[in-house]
Amino acid sequence: MKLSELKTGETGIIVKVAGQGGFRKRIIEMGFITGKEVKVLLNAPLSDPVKYQILGYEVSLRHSEADLIEVVSSSESIPVKKGDNEVKAIEIEDGDTDEGALTPDEISKKANEQRHIINVALVGNPNCGKTSLFNFVSGAHERVGNYSGVTVDAKYGRADFGGYHFELVDLPGTYSLSAYSPEELYVRKQLIEKTPDIVINVLDASNLERNLYLTTQLIDMHIPMVCALNMYDETEQRGDNIDFRKLSELFGVPMIPTVFTSGRGVEDLFGQAISVYEGKEGKTSGYRHIHINHGHEIEQGIADIQEHLKKNEDLRPKYSTRYLAIKLLENDSEINDFIAAFPDAEEIQEHKQNVANRVKEETGTDIETAIMDAKYGFINGALKESEYATGKKKDTYQITHLIDHILTHKYLGFPIFFLLLFVMFYVTFYAGQYPMTWIEDGVAWIGGFVSNYLPDGPVKAMLVDGVIGGVGSVIVFLPQILILYFFISYMEDCGYMARATFIMDKLMHKMGLHGKSFIPLIMGFGCNVPAVMATRTIESRKSRLVTMLILPMMSCSARIPIYIMITGSFFAIQYRSLVMISLYMIGILMAVVLSKIFSTFFVKGEDTPFVMELPPYRFPTWKAIGRHTWEKGKQYLKKMGGIILVASIIVWALGYFPLPDDPNMSRQAQQEQSYIGRIGKTIEPVFIPQGFDWKLDVGLLAGTGAKEIVASTLGVLYSDNDSFVDDTEYNDDNGKYELLKKQMTTDVAKLHNVSYQKAKPIATLTAFSFLIFVLLYFPCVATIAAVKGETGSWKWGIFSAVYTTVLAWVVSALVFQIGMLFI
Ligand code: GDP
Ligand code: MG
Repeated sequence: MKLSELKTGETGIIVKVAGQGGFRKRIIEMGFITGKEVKVLLNAPLSDPVKYQILGYEVSLRHSEADLIEVVSSSESIPVKKGDNEVKAIEIEDGDTDEGALTPDEISKKANEQRHIINVALVGNPNCGKTSLFNFVSGAHERVGNYSGVTVDAKYGRADFGGYHFELVDLPGTYSLSAYSPEELYVRKQLIEKTPDIVINVLDASNLERNLYLTTQLIDMHIPMVCALNMYDETEQRGDNIDFRKLSELFGVPMIPTVFTSGRGVEDLFGQAISVYEGKEGKTSGYRHIHINHGHEIEQGIADIQEHLKKNEDLRPKYSTRYLAIKLLENDSEINDFIAAFPDAEEIQEHKQNVANRVKEETGTDIETAIMDAKYGFINGALKESEYATGKKKDTYQITHLIDHILTHKYLGFPIFFLLLFVMFYVTFYAGQYPMTWIEDGVAWIGGFVSNYLPDGPVKAMLVDGVIGGVGSVIVFLPQILILYFFISYMEDCGYMARATFIMDKLMHKMGLHGKSFIPLIMGFGCNVPAVMATRTIESRKSRLVTMLILPMMSCSARIPIYIMITGSFFAIQYRSLVMISLYMIGILMAVVLSKIFSTFFVKGEDTPFVMELPPYRFPTWKAIGRHTWEKGKQYLKKMGGIILVASIIVWALGYFPLPDDPNMSRQAQQEQSYIGRIGKTIEPVFIPQGFDWKLDVGLLAGTGAKEIVASTLGVLYSDNDSFVDDTEYNDDNGKYELLKKQMTTDVAKLHNVSYQKAKPIATLTAFSFLIFVLLYFPCVATIAAVKGETGSWKWGIFSAVYTTVLAWVVSALVFQIGMLFI
């Protein structure tokens, strides 16, 4: 707990002093040292400062300062009764055995334990290996990919090392800590508000100069830090030369060569982290904090502004005044707002303006650029002194350039991209069929077993038609999903996705979209929810919003079961991949058109330029690919056991009840008089232009929860074995989808009042317009919630739900009606 939370008369043992350099030093000098006992003499609500007794002295601290001191106290485990405002003094001296109260021994034990918890934040440029480190030490399986913008949220994990317990947080990648993009602000906020004990700054050593820029900003913030020179294997292969000990000395930060894919250097890194942490506690770690010299004028300006800032007592615990001063001079909008509330805000701004003017006169550049130049100057100098030289042995980029020459070729790039997509779907279909048959047989066997051994009745019907019919019809697609994810994982991990983005970028640019939007869009093929979150990497609010709105057009993998089910039923085997690709293409095309429309008419705002990074190709290990594929497969299975199971049972129950009066009623008639039949019949008129009958309508309705439910619902609704049409022509294939195909054709014949034979082409057309509807309509509830979460208002969430559904209705009606002209 925090020292500020202790009440008058309570005693605690100090565990940690957080906060920033100068402040910490002062606090520690005052006697607030780890392990010491502190007693609250007076802590009345709203009274500032608070009086404490420590080492026999009386000392007063402000609330904001006491907030940064962590203590363990005997009161921590005492339940506080509601409304009990009376402060209870606890006598820990005479072995108080109050329930839950800690004995002095226990307190020091607990204090000792907490002292051994180190909070670590992983900070670094995008794609430098932070998540790889995080996964390696914590055993987590967070998403890793060879392109920027993979991690968009803070991820938490833990690891034990050297007698310490590490609480890790993996942060999104940033190139700097300006207020330029939401990620940068996010990382900054995490660093200042969560006050980690240590920052591990991960650097891509094959790209040192740029990566060190962030390091210089972290140094400004005066945060205890260790640097990992990651991707050291690549620099070695290239034959780079660097005296990293010298570099550590110059930056005043330990720098350790590491390779996070193999775990090399990780022990050393954590060992150093411990010694920096202990160094904070008074022992020496051999490194001294440095100030990067920005040149006389700027340094003078920093010093002047710092004088003002130092007067403000509330500020000092959390912020380094030097950092604030530099940010102010850089004209950082957030810090400007922050300072505006200060009494001497005007004077500070005046100082700032003076410095800016003088810098302009002397160097001819604006102060922001001057500060950046000074930082790069420092980096260059340090690199020279460390005898840094890039080798020529084997340039990582050499092979990359070669491959890129072909893959991003002006004319070849696109055909190759589509060829790869085609191969991906083709293999998914063909290779996936074999294990699919096994699972199918397994599901059928379980179904048969249950129907043979259970007595007739609702329970049996629920298990066979509801659970096995519903979940079974979706789970058979697991192999296909795994194969597809294998391809996607491989493309992500080796770096091809970044290229796909790149070649699409040129096209997208013409349509009012941005290259950076393409990462979330590509992710959208997997699942729209993380993709919506991934839009955070886009700097411009306008592009971010437009990207979020068109994301549902990217056909997520939840729609695959229904695609496979329907294409497998109605299209000959040689056309299936093409139908699938056509769906994806229609989605992309819609996205292009819509983004143009949205960015012109609906969403206002500025465009910002961006840099697309093309990392070198890195060929992932089979183990890594296997793990990523399996992680995604696991999510699919989890969904099976959760929402899809529940939905299947609900759909079944709505179709089973009310029980018919006449027990001999045909299955068809029973379904029609059931609740689900009634619901379906009620909404049937809405979907007449698309040629859907009530069963398909119900499928669509159910699919708003999750798209797989469309497939599981149809699985339940078409699980009827007895109304069989003896149609040998439809028995051709492997017989997998006969049932669906025949029943749907029968339904279509009934709906259009034509013969079964005549209904066949109409059924195929209906199937295709149904696929289009599924592609375009209402993204699942989770996506809508994500859009709401990211934009902060329901407005855009509802907008995206409504426009997609209207669009789906119109497009699929057009497809059906135009198609009917040719039948
Ligand atoms: P993050 O964006 O900083 O979280 O980076 P990731 O952990 O996602 O890693 C980016 C890419 O670099 C992935 O393809 C990793 O497999 C790869 N990678 C990470 N560390 C190393 C390393 O030390 N050497 C090499 N060659 N590749 C690495
Ligand atoms: Mg990451």
